[in-house]
Amino acid sequence: MPELPEVEVVRRGLERWVAHRTVAEAEVLHPRAVRRHIAGADDFTHRLKGHRIGTPSRRGKYLWLPLEDTQQSVLAHLGMSGQLLVQPHEAPDEKHLRIRVRFADTLKTELRFVDQRTFGGLSLHDNTPDGLPDVIAHIARDPLDPLFDDEAFHQALRRKRSTIKRALLDQSLISGVGNIYADEALWRARLHYERPTANFTRPRTTELLGHVRDVMNAALAVGGTSFDSLYVNVNGESGYFDRSLDAYGREGLPCKRCGTPMRRRPWMNRSSYFCPQCQRAPRVSS
Ligand SMILES: [Zn+2]
Repeated sequence: MPELPEVEVVRRGLERWVAHRTVAEAEVLHPRAVRRHIAGADDFTHRLKGHRIGTPSRRGKYLWLPLEDTQQSVLAHLGMSGQLLVQPHEAPDEKHLRIRVRFADTLKTELRFVDQRTFGGLSLHDNTPDGLPDVIAHIARDPLDPLFDDEAFHQALRRKRSTIKRALLDQSLISGVGNIYADEALWRARLHYERPTANFTRPRTTELLGHVRDVMNAALAVGGTSFDSLYVNVNGESGYFDRSLDAYGREGLPCKRCGTPMRRRPWMNRSSYFCPQCQRAPRVSS
């Protein structure tokens, strides 16, 4: 599942290759890829036709292409295996090509949505006054957003009576942090994932947010993380940040700080990776 850095890499690719281009026509090759567009495939292609794409935008893991002069946006759901590729017209169709968008210009490239497992798709939505697709209006700002409010996040942590990893994955508090970067940031901050948030101090919150941002910026710098050979960025290049992960996926390997074998524990239908020495479990209180 792509996380914020991967989605931002895709967004930057789209900004470079498809922003300000006018749609000549869209073609839906598999109806499942537009199932979130309730009015159906014909309506989807009709509404895109002739419109210019604005600057691709992102909040957390959500990515959208505004359609200029419409107050609507095309929301991309990458799902488990969705890819947005910019390809030359003459490139052979990918086996799992679901949607093709051709442009009314002479650049000789087209946008393709390719998705093996078809959990993802594209859909058109009305924008909120903030310019967000209405279906994601409840998603909080992400930590790389200049308008993210650290103090409000801290207060929310204190109020929530949650545990820290659960809070980091709560998209109504902070968006864009998934399982991988939560484990990485918690390892850097030496915090156990079950630490209660109610007694977080302001310096602790500030330090943790700093680690969240560092780990995301590091991933961005190398083009996102790839755990799945299916994930590639907009130009078809695979990310390779996985080589520099400190926690995620390192069960049994020595902690890079203290050498203690890292552990993996089942956590909310996923896994948490942590160092039992550096990230001490909180004392159980009933
Ligand atoms: Zn350690």
